[in-house]
Amino acid sequence: MARLGCDLVALGPGDDLRYLCGWSPVADERLFLLLVATDRHALVVPRLNADAAATVPGPRFVYDDAEGPASALRQALASLGTVPGCVAVSDDLRADHLLALQQQLPGSSFDVASRLLAPLRACKDPSELEWLRRAARVADAGVVAALEACRPGVSEIQVAEAARAAMVASGAETVAFVLVASGPNTALPHHHSGPRLLQAGEPVLVDVGARVGGYCSDVTRMASLGQPSSRFVQVVEVVERALQEALRAARPGSTAADVDRAARRVIEDAGFGPYFSHRTGHGLGLSVHEPPSVHAQNAQQLEAGMVFTVEPGVYLPGEFGVRLEEAVILGPAGPQILSGLPRQVTVLTP
Ligand code: ZN
Ligand code: ZN
Ligand code: ZN
Repeated sequence: MARLGCDLVALGPGDDLRYLCGWSPVADERLFLLLVATDRHALVVPRLNADAAATVPGPRFVYDDAEGPASALRQALASLGTVPGCVAVSDDLRADHLLALQQQLPGSSFDVASRLLAPLRACKDPSELEWLRRAARVADAGVVAALEACRPGVSEIQVAEAARAAMVASGAETVAFVLVASGPNTALPHHHSGPRLLQAGEPVLVDVGARVGGYCSDVTRMASLGQPSSRFVQVVEVVERALQEALRAARPGSTAADVDRAARRVIEDAGFGPYFSHRTGHGLGLSVHEPPSVHAQNAQQLEAGMVFTVEPGVYLPGEFGVRLEEAVILGPAGPQILSGLPRQVTVLTP
């Protein structure tokens, strides 16, 4: 905090809070704040969270629904001693809670807490890596179940439900997300599984993530319901090579941009550059998307212990899309893939 010129960190419910305290309440309209000054801290807690918040040590200022948080917040800020010059707040703090804070600190400037928290969270310790490995195994079970559920006449939603059920059965604390796309829907990178029915001869994209111990997984695989077209096979081959080149470029000391460029070059050389419409990957941890963002302008150096995805894709509008995604732990010698699933397209008999 001192190095970044920050006098107060104010965190609402979310992954930063969970990272620091091992616990976070559900985010709702009730103001919950952990206030961290350089030498002391305080909690502003709604009455109904008071018991659960007891796991977080330190003075707490509890308020009732009927009275509202203003006076508890005022007392909590006063207990910290000095009026902060610069306050760093959770990036995803609710606007009404930020406004409440700003009202009581009219002379302070505000910044996002990710400036402080992202560097702390980027390199995972052994216990975090163990949760990430477990979460990856759960996601693998989700992909396998989804592919088993694929047959003509079954909807994307039904396939997604099969993945969800399998992940819960395999120990998911929560299902982080499930994305099943079929046929031309595979060309929509962030498609939401819908009522569309799978048809023979079509590609299917399955992208799932589960949370275990708070930590997330994220993996994408492709299948084909029957023999794939030669154009599909060609695009898969390009995306696979892009993924391999990105993995080769991912070394401690290389930059996030190096990894993105390695993948993008393969896709551009194959003539599909305009159809790779997103970054190559993102950090993975307590959040599904967290730093480092693996894009062409990110000069951030990669370090051993970082965990991120490599997920090049080619999306041909109205036709089909292909994305292959691995989440990796960056080791001293290079990336270690978390998923145990083969990456080849699964050819299903319709
Ligand atoms: Zn995503
Ligand atoms: Zn994904
Ligand atoms: Zn991803």
